[in-house]
Amino acid sequence: MKMNEIHKLKEELSAPKQIVIVPHKNPDGDAIGSTLGLFHYLRSKGQDAVVIAPNDYPDFLKWMPGNETVLRFDSETEKSSELIKKADLIFTLDFNSFGRVENMREALEASDATFVMIDHHQQPDDYARFMYSDIGMSSTCEMVYHFIQQMGEPEKIDKNVATCLYTGIMTDSGGSFRFPTTTSTTHRVVADLIDQGAENASIHEAVYDNNSLSRLQLLGCALRNMVVLKEFNTVYITLSKAELEAHNFKKGDTEGLVNYGLSLRGTKLAVIFIEDTTESYIKISFRSKGSFSVNEFARAHFGGGGHDNAAGGRSNLSMEETTSYFKEVLKNYKSQLE
Ligand code: 5GP
Ligand code: MN
Repeated sequence: MKMNEIHKLKEELSAPKQIVIVPHKNPDGDAIGSTLGLFHYLRSKGQDAVVIAPNDYPDFLKWMPGNETVLRFDSETEKSSELIKKADLIFTLDFNSFGRVENMREALEASDATFVMIDHHQQPDDYARFMYSDIGMSSTCEMVYHFIQQMGEPEKIDKNVATCLYTGIMTDSGGSFRFPTTTSTTHRVVADLIDQGAENASIHEAVYDNNSLSRLQLLGCALRNMVVLKEFNTVYITLSKAELEAHNFKKGDTEGLVNYGLSLRGTKLAVIFIEDTTESYIKISFRSKGSFSVNEFARAHFGGGGHDNAAGGRSNLSMEETTSYFKEVLKNYKSQLE
């Protein structure tokens, strides 16, 4: 954020304010880590802050400090709406457009609050009075770290803040600081977070060694369903509603499965198509290696977007129609995937 903006924001935060912090729908580690990290920071400044998530998120994120204070808009709508109405400031974290909060969109659009965006997705919308958008960043959590530094309060990065921010940097960088957006600065940030009390080994264990047997068996099912399109260096996986239900699907169980496609030697594009268990569409995750932009691909063909190497989208067609359509449009990208 520009220094004059930081200056103005500092002025806004010099007196206690009512603050709402919002992650995107179906929040992931970066969304929950960044909102709770910011929550602890603002609370330590005497601000009246609350995190309101559009809907539920996976159990493997629910151990984070402050998790018990998170409100859910879908199940606590009245209380959440009241807080949004009263808010002086609304921080929107880890998303770039009100479309990403779906059920909360109307409430946010109706609000007179001052909006602050902190986000690393491409092509951000222009709704925020204060905008810190940087598509080169590993994660929104890393940006919250830089934001607190810019506010001139590094001493406020305590164990709680450090734990939340570490979690999101870890998950958004592919679980082990593997994506190209992981810079030497990212590693310096992470080193400092460890110095401030983030217990890296336990955080990794809490997030990744938390599988149920049925989730591991769902992984087996996904791997069996994997289709390799050799001439496109592409791998895709499908999971039907019936398959999910047969494996006692719980929110978060499909997180990260798409990366197994990318781990097959020579793969440049990996995709997973997942029938939603509650709504009537197919959720799609795209991952790529190198210069193939899945953000562009998801935007052009599947009403989605994200980052160059990790993006999402959806389809309202059946699974069979969706994969046929995918294979059809893929033909136009053959040279880019060679
Ligand atoms: P995932 O595949 O893990 O759901 O998402 C990968 C990345 O793309 C995340 O950064 C996520 O925020 C973003 N993303 C997922 N779905 C969408 C979508 O429908 N639209 C946009 N713009 N971004 C998405
Ligand atoms: Mn993110």
